[in-house]
Amino acid sequence: MKTVREALTQLRVLMYHRIAPPELDPWRLCVSPERFSRQLEVLGNQFEIISLSDIFSRDDFHNTVALTFDDGYSDNLTIAKPILEAFSAPATVFVTSGYVNGQREYWWDELEQVFLSPGTLPEVLHFHVGNSELHHEFQSSRSFSEDQANLYKNWKVTWDGTKPPTERHELFFNVWNLLMKTDDSARNRTVDYLFKWSGIKRLIRSTHQPLDIKGLEELTSGGLVQIGSHTVTHPDLTSLPREEKVVELSQSKEELDAQLNIDIETIAYPHGRYDLETLFLTREAGYKVAFGTNNKQQLDFDLRFQLPRRMVLDHDIDQFLMAIQ
Ligand SMILES: [Zn+2]
Repeated sequence: MKTVREALTQLRVLMYHRIAPPELDPWRLCVSPERFSRQLEVLGNQFEIISLSDIFSRDDFHNTVALTFDDGYSDNLTIAKPILEAFSAPATVFVTSGYVNGQREYWWDELEQVFLSPGTLPEVLHFHVGNSELHHEFQSSRSFSEDQANLYKNWKVTWDGTKPPTERHELFFNVWNLLMKTDDSARNRTVDYLFKWSGIKRLIRSTHQPLDIKGLEELTSGGLVQIGSHTVTHPDLTSLPREEKVVELSQSKEELDAQLNIDIETIAYPHGRYDLETLFLTREAGYKVAFGTNNKQQLDFDLRFQLPRRMVLDHDIDQFLMAIQ
């Protein structure tokens, strides 16, 4: 008989974020509704699509696949849910609890509003955050027309050292990098400052809105979609001291448990990042299963707290099948 560990290595877990047209999507979070539909059709023909709650009641995962969504975007309800229902495909949405009723977009989307919207920015940007400082004097793309914004709407961040197409895109990426390394309150203060500095009115775009409690209730009604945790503020957990890790892991579970009157059993680590202490504290917090992202090396700890996933991009079917192998 197989051990749980051996059986679980056969489970294929897919990671989605947004189901939306992939425009203005620098982080490749969107899969178009048409492609998502087609992907589910193919999955349904080739695999058994299981719910994460089935993990505990079975010991064989041969030819199974599970669907997950990270962050908690409102399109998971308005666009993804009807498609999931059409294919009777169960899924789990990992929600960043601090953004539920938080009245703001995720911070990486707010940076996109500041730097990639048409308009004219002040000549100089200068701010301190944590131990770092950023100073930038615009040379070329201080003014950004509707046409230019449109021209670059399909731009994606790359990690191969390719230079972004304009100074604005470069600045967007540099500020993102800086804020990735800062704690949540300093990051929020900086984003608030950036809106003030830019003169851009902060929006909560319907396309980028985090789900609120009412939305989460609608999402779970019918029983096909379950909710998991994605921490409170979406930090890199490996960068936090132990006591802050405990807050991120426990508070998100407690808040979601209380607000939705359910028992949250699953969590996805933001950015797929975890260390041994995170795994230990995740188990302590009462989660039963936890997920990283693509092909991360597993640590010497129970596999159920570090299950890998495959990120799905806006792929056509051939690319999709290759990516999920
Ligand atoms: Zn995330």
